[in-house]
Amino acid sequence: MRKKRICAIGIGCLISMAVPGAAVFADAPLPSMEAPGGEGSAPAEESSSSSAEGTEAPSEREEPAGPGEGAAAAGGTTIIRDSQSRTDYSEIGPGIGLDKNAESQNQENAGTDFTTLTVSDPVIKPAEKYSYEQMKTDIEALKNRYGTAHMTVNTIGTSADGREIYDIIIGNANAGKHVLIQGAMHAREYMNPLLMMKQIEDALAFYDTGSYNGRNLSDLLNQVAVHFVPMSNPDGVALSQFGLDAIQSADLRDRIQNCYASDTAAGRTSLDFDTYLTRWKANARGVDLNYNFDALWNNASSTWLLPSSSGYKGIGPASEPEAQALVNLINNGCTWVAVLNYHSMGNVIYWDIEGNQVKAKSQHLAQLMSAATGGYQMLYSGGGGGFKDWLQLKDNPVPSITIETGKVDCPMPLSEFENVWAQNRAGWALAADFALLY
Ligand SMILES: [Zn+2]
Repeated sequence: MRKKRICAIGIGCLISMAVPGAAVFADAPLPSMEAPGGEGSAPAEESSSSSAEGTEAPSEREEPAGPGEGAAAAGGTTIIRDSQSRTDYSEIGPGIGLDKNAESQNQENAGTDFTTLTVSDPVIKPAEKYSYEQMKTDIEALKNRYGTAHMTVNTIGTSADGREIYDIIIGNANAGKHVLIQGAMHAREYMNPLLMMKQIEDALAFYDTGSYNGRNLSDLLNQVAVHFVPMSNPDGVALSQFGLDAIQSADLRDRIQNCYASDTAAGRTSLDFDTYLTRWKANARGVDLNYNFDALWNNASSTWLLPSSSGYKGIGPASEPEAQALVNLINNGCTWVAVLNYHSMGNVIYWDIEGNQVKAKSQHLAQLMSAATGGYQMLYSGGGGGFKDWLQLKDNPVPSITIETGKVDCPMPLSEFENVWAQNRAGWALAADFALLY
């Protein structure tokens, strides 16, 4: 355990910086059941024992209803606190990408809005199954193409099956403010690592020439370090993409087969084994990482009590190396101002939880992101155990939102990427610009 907290970035591997026992919120009151039947609510999950294979709605804690239903259907059963205010930006203070006065003030000497530019011959190329191995290759290729002046690559942990969890910092790693963008905590949601790697390439390609909201990216990224953890659950992604052979540990392979046996026996799945694996959400140990954080964990509305493809919260908060890696990153002493969590699907944004210590800021961030995405609906999330929940409830809370990209079942076909990209390309820059407000 470290004796004092410094902002420990840019020093390579942070794996050894164990931070035991993040703040305990087990005594905090249960989230109120404000959204009975809603996708984000406790009752829905606990009653969804037959949906491990994920026909989406019931088994998804942060994913709304299935194909074709999306945000509208979710909105029908989930508390929407923002349906009015999210379109009334006059009440939310200085806007980002919306406040024309702020934009014009910044516009002098600003470069071209980067969202209007296109990277020629990009390093990052869309693929149906954008893999861990491809990501590793691309990280090196980005270094070769753009240099390392504005890019710091750390690893923050190692997965259960031995894969590195990368933290790619764009901008001034010693900046006074830091934001985190993480994705693929759920295995089958592996379009988001592709989104984030392309975001990284945007930031590098247009670092010196591009602007956002009238501010040069170089200025923005000098003041705010943007951390990307594109693949928080690399084992799960490999399993969902390539099946059981992608897992190297024999013990883990046995465990995964046991998950299938118990899910089948319990009627949680009727899929064949290979298809079951494509729908996998958990890590390779069968723990659903977005229930594994110390946020109302004792009462977290996990959908299942055994290791499984989804819904099992583990034996204790941050019991999983992938969850601990993110906890350690946030506890590294940096000043974290915002966190984006990319999940899929639904084209919605979860921004709140009962007891949220950073309610106004999280709402503001969600409102701005909703506008930037072209109207992702803002929803309340209940339950507990999620990374967003932990960030919002812990000591030194961090404004955080969960963005559910895409409109079809996961794993999403590549044809969905065009919309996901168009709606979310600017997300990282918005988060950095938001950081300057607080
Ligand atoms: Zn998810």
